[in-house]
Amino acid sequence: MILTVTMNPSIDISYPLDRFVLDKVNRVKQVTKTPGGKGLNVTRVIHDLGGEVTATGVLGGFHGKFLAQQLDQEAITHDFTSIEGETRDSIAILHEGNQTEILEAGPTVSQAEQQTFLEKYQQLIKEAQLVTISGSLAKGLPSNFYQTLVKLAAEQQVRVLVDTSGESLKQVLAGEVKPYLIKPNLDELSDLLEKKLAIDRLAEITTALQQPIFQGIEWIVVSLGKAGALIKYQNECYQVEIPRIQVVNPVGSGDATIAGLAYGLSQDHDPKLIMKECMAAGMANALQVKTGHVDPADFHQLVKKINVKKL
Ligand code: ADP
Repeated sequence: MILTVTMNPSIDISYPLDRFVLDKVNRVKQVTKTPGGKGLNVTRVIHDLGGEVTATGVLGGFHGKFLAQQLDQEAITHDFTSIEGETRDSIAILHEGNQTEILEAGPTVSQAEQQTFLEKYQQLIKEAQLVTISGSLAKGLPSNFYQTLVKLAAEQQVRVLVDTSGESLKQVLAGEVKPYLIKPNLDELSDLLEKKLAIDRLAEITTALQQPIFQGIEWIVVSLGKAGALIKYQNECYQVEIPRIQVVNPVGSGDATIAGLAYGLSQDHDPKLIMKECMAAGMANALQVKTGHVDPADFHQLVKKINVKKL
């Protein structure tokens, strides 16, 4: 199975409004509340694609129970560590073509809870083929926490796919044991390298990927939104070209890309097919209203329309 790690999950609440009026009462008719946090989006898309997946991380309080119930309803296997703090809400107000978000920081994970999680994680990786780690760290966890997760998995010869940004990405790359795969988007890569990179200067990106901090990472997937991706696999770089689509909601497309990668890798697919699958998963997500969800029929159709070009 594929083990997905979500250390700061959330209940994603969406409030669609025709008009959002400041300093007045705004009444919402059609509220949706779904399990969120990047790792849970990854989980749902792997499940949609027919992959075998188990979600882990930390859940707390009434909100945590609600999330677990929702995962049960979707028949998604999960094994989270319970914590004292209340799992957070993330609110997206969709109005006049805009998306205004209100994101809670989430609960603090205590030392003892951290230990309990690490023990569970070590048990779960024994059954795992692959691990995906996504999103931000909960408060209370050290900034090198993901590095610890990568190291523990590597000790069991389990490959780890990491999708995070900022300090936790820096720390993961600084570790002596490297993740198997990272998936920065262009902004995240620019932040990491402290250099503004642009879609129309691909050669600069390929050169940047030769830097020593990336050594030992088998796959680097630089996702480029509607422009597809630039992928470094082993020592070669590939441009992945995607067709134009009628986008409905691209939020969570990066998470779906990770799901596509995990799915293809778990099936031992050919690397070029995996490059197509991860793009098709991101695109199929963008065709759905629901964040972190794909229709497998879209996915299979799109795979056929994607072109991989060696650079
Ligand atoms: P992130 O969500 O991490 O910023 P991207 O925006 O790069 O990641 O999206 C990941 C992938 O999802 C892209 O490489 C592409 O395959 C697909 N995707 C995202 N946005 C679009 C779009 N507007 N049109 C077509 N495909 C998209």
